Amino acid sequence: MNIHEYQAKTIFGRHGIRVHGGKVCLNPTEVGEAAQELGGRVVVKAQVHAGGRGKAGGVKLADTWEEAAAKSEAIFALTIKGLPVRKILVTPAVDIAHEYYAGVVLDREAALPLMMVSREGGIDIEQVAAEAPEKIIKTHFDPAAGLRPFQARQLAHAIEPDGSKAVAIAGVLVKLGQVFLDVHATLAEINPLVEMKNGGFLALDGKINLDDSAVALRPDLEALRDPESVDAHQEKARQMGLSYIPLEGNIGCVVNGAGLAMATMDLVKHFGGEPANFLDIGGSSSPEKVVAAIEIITADKNVRAILFNIFGGITRCDHVAQGIVTALERLKTTLPIVVRLTGTNEAEGREILNRSGKAIFAATMEEAVQEAIRRAGIKA
Ligand code: GDP
Ligand code: MN
Repeated sequence: MNIHEYQAKTIFGRHGIRVHGGKVCLNPTEVGEAAQELGGRVVVKAQVHAGGRGKAGGVKLADTWEEAAAKSEAIFALTIKGLPVRKILVTPAVDIAHEYYAGVVLDREAALPLMMVSREGGIDIEQVAAEAPEKIIKTHFDPAAGLRPFQARQLAHAIEPDGSKAVAIAGVLVKLGQVFLDVHATLAEINPLVEMKNGGFLALDGKINLDDSAVALRPDLEALRDPESVDAHQEKARQMGLSYIPLEGNIGCVVNGAGLAMATMDLVKHFGGEPANFLDIGGSSSPEKVVAAIEIITADKNVRAILFNIFGGITRCDHVAQGIVTALERLKTTLPIVVRLTGTNEAEGREILNRSGKAIFAATMEEAVQEAIRRAGIKA
């Protein structure tokens, strides 16, 4: 789960990382008022779950409150990486002496947190990572012990020759490691970590991604969820207990079980098609889940055919069939639907679908995939 910059900064603050407070605003009037209250130069920042806001025009400096309000109007009108801007953070502007990068990610291969730092922080860090990876210094650390002070000092000295500045940076790194562990993050990032012209270090931006499994166990983390700021269909899928990941292709896939879903997508590719999504309807599947799955898939305008691949174990084929029929009665989609149903109550499932006359049967996975690809290629 992603959280907003202002939420990440609140967490940083609790762990003793210096941040500038500010105010979250819902419209330009509130932005004007917040800027007036803060006084002086401010930064107006889109709160969306996407990086690269600055480059997209979502971060603007303003010298007066009038200018802040006016600039926020343009920011509220933006869509950044598909996400509309509903909230803006107004915060005091900083005179920057230098921008560093500091971030922790979960390195799944090593099964350890990995702290990464660079002297070349700021909006071009992706380019630095791609073109000059040696400028990013990395160290794994023990999740039981946290980033040890000597590790933090080694990293800090690698990016800052001045001894006293390096000590200050090392202090921030230790705390960032604590943040990562405390909130069960998969990513905790300060970019930029700035040295201010009047001295001191400050987290100017913050990004934290949380481990969904931890969020489920921690009401304090769950409270950070902002359902408005995620894709409506992904949020609906989550609420219905479906694992859904949208992709670029045109074959909508509805499968039970993550492994079978992956195999189905591989087979779509194998036969020259492109899957429109990964969708696992899970174990015991109710008609409501199938209805939701079809609704989510048909909302994707690229989809030209829907492919069901269901292995009935705990998931009963007749339940899925009933879900398909109910969904089609409700949705009136004209998309071709190809179904491969096998396993528990297979005959009953076929019977329900046959009676409805709304789906195309396939006996095997190969047949189903090829038929879906063929149908997707036919212009409606
Ligand atoms: P991002 O583009 O989403 O990463 O947003 P950031 O909050 O990191 O801001 C992008 C860039 O805007 C920073 O790297 C800074 O160069 C600049 N910026 C942001 N806040 C300030 C500020 O208070 N003062 C100055 N001078 N520049 C800022
Ligand atoms: Mn940033």
